[in-house]
Amino acid sequence: MGGTATAPRPHVVIVGAGPAGLWAARRLGRQPVDITLVDRNNYHTFQPLLWQVASGTVGPEEIVTPIRSLVRRQPNTRFAWMEVQEVDLERRLVRGAGQEMAYDLLVLATGSATHFYGIPGAAEHCLPLKTVAEAVALRNQVLRCFERAVLEESAEVRRRLLTFAVVGGGPTGVEFAGGLAELVKSLRDRDFPGLRREEMRVVLLEALDGLLGGFPPQLGRFAARHLARMGIEVRLGAAVAEVTPQTVWLKDGALIEAETVAWVAGVQGDPAARAWGLPVGRGGRIPLLPSLQLPGHPEVYVAGDLAHQEQEGHPLPMVWAVAVQQGQMVARNIARQLAGQEPMAFRYRDRGSLAVLGRMGGVGRLWGRPVTGLVAWLAWAYVHLTTPPGWRNRLVVALDWVWDLGGRRANQSIVR
Ligand SMILES: Cc1cc2nc3c(=O)[nH]c(=O)nc-3n(C[C@H](O)[C@H](O)[C@H](O)COP(=O)(O)OP(=O)(O)OC[C@H]3O[C@@H](n4cnc5c(N)ncnc54)[C@H](O)[C@@H]3O)c2cc1C
Repeated sequence: MGGTATAPRPHVVIVGAGPAGLWAARRLGRQPVDITLVDRNNYHTFQPLLWQVASGTVGPEEIVTPIRSLVRRQPNTRFAWMEVQEVDLERRLVRGAGQEMAYDLLVLATGSATHFYGIPGAAEHCLPLKTVAEAVALRNQVLRCFERAVLEESAEVRRRLLTFAVVGGGPTGVEFAGGLAELVKSLRDRDFPGLRREEMRVVLLEALDGLLGGFPPQLGRFAARHLARMGIEVRLGAAVAEVTPQTVWLKDGALIEAETVAWVAGVQGDPAARAWGLPVGRGGRIPLLPSLQLPGHPEVYVAGDLAHQEQEGHPLPMVWAVAVQQGQMVARNIARQLAGQEPMAFRYRDRGSLAVLGRMGGVGRLWGRPVTGLVAWLAWAYVHLTTPPGWRNRLVVALDWVWDLGGRRANQSIVR
């Protein structure tokens, strides 16, 4: 009996295994396509818990999952560990170091990068919080400052070592400032009793006149009051003009002497997109058709932080839920395209957003209603335990949170 020759299946290359790329790959799992999921890391990162790594609550391994383990049960999907350096839209190729991959359909989901807005000294002297390595570096820096301060004789130098500035009062800045204040308190009370409370400062700097832009203003005011009660100096209307190795200069001429300046003031679409010759718009993101296709290239889709789309006159926020929903929509539209149907327009279903304020506190919006306090924290905890993939990670994170309720941080080692 002779075999029947089968036509080659379309090759879908997905660049980036964050939520957008991963959810696109998962939804394409049963389609008649061959998928290559490409990432420069061999793991998927749950970025919403990065600040908990930086403040010692959870360990770095707990917020990452090997990508191979996530696609193992999907026979049509393979993982390629590669940093894409070039996208050739004409020849339908992506290239990495010494490697070239042809595609029939391409999904770009490479996310975003820290944005320093060209502020002098910010990129050189601030510590960003966008990757696991940066979160560990930030935690190490805080711990190193304590170890140096306890041996330091000069009160002035000690004060500088123990002043921690956080630039950016959005959700990540608010959450990290709260986590940092708790780490500082835990170190002071348990491990460094010789250091004086008055020498320690956590300063949250926000250029606008309220915290949590994008949330209803009353929630920003609630957060500011809550953080102030935790001992954090919340400075509103505090626009950074320049950063030097040990100082932050504000536009109004004020000066903060701090050995540690964390930068969580903003992100922009992956700058590589511009280098690849793709059309880049506001915030470094790529403007798209409503179907998430690149204008003029129906075979190219973009999803997640890199994608620029507007809804009700506003750009969609760079958040996890948008990335997941866009990844799912890309998969759906690829399936429709292959079946000869028209791709559908993407519409974001916003169920809410939450930010925690230290242990057991929080603020947010759920289905359009404001929530604060323990209710917000519990909702946040539920979402952040059930969203990242992997039962083991969820269990260890939950254990770390329980441990943390005792006022002691689980991850206080300077790891190199
Ligand atoms: C500190 C922090 C806290 C956050 N907190 C929240 C929160 O509480 N709630 C919320 O909803 N959102 C939060 N976000 C935002 C959310 O994490 C992002 O919106 C989401 O991760 C974007 O998903 P993405 O798939 O577009 O990109 P990413 O998750 O950034 O994934 C991009 C992937 O592409 C890979 N990649 C990039 N360039 C290349 C290349 N050239 N070649 C190969 N691979 C490449 C990267 O390694 C990465 O795996 C937070 C973000 C940060 C940084």
